[in-house]
Amino acid sequence: MEVRFLVQGSAPEPYQISVSLSPLMISCTCPAGMNNTICKHRRAILAGEETGIVDGDRKRLREIARAAEGAGWPALDAELGEAKARLLAAEKGYDLTARALRDAHYRIAEGDLKTERLEEKARDKMGAALETATRVYLEYQRIEAKAKRILVAGSY
Ligand SMILES: [Zn+2]
Repeated sequence: MEVRFLVQGSAPEPYQISVSLSPLMISCTCPAGMNNTICKHRRAILAGEETGIVDGDRKRLREIARAAEGAGWPALDAELGEAKARLLAAEKGYDLTARALRDAHYRIAEGDLKTERLEEKARDKMGAALETATRVYLEYQRIEAKAKRILVAGSY
């Protein structure tokens, strides 16, 4: 038993969302949905939001939101948001260490030999930042994999 919605996104044609309640699964035909990355349209429907719906049985949104709660979706969605914030912070940290190392390399190339110890430190820091970013990324992927049991690739 599927519930279907048409949702107006950025493309001229509305996207098609299909929801099955048991087990809970939701697909979307937007580009992100078709790539099986998590899209805002499916998250909105699971939250019971009417935003963007141009066709479909809106009365069933509450039932869908209840099923999403039963499947632990709100907690998983929050966990995913936190993991994404940690990932962005780790990537930013890595970028900063990479920039510091590049600066050290330029100064050495310009003949500033005192910078060599700084270069070594910068290299260590970049190695540590890469380890952190990798660990945080794997953690994000683990949580995302759980989310993708509910948010399936777009098909109608
Ligand atoms: Zn979508």
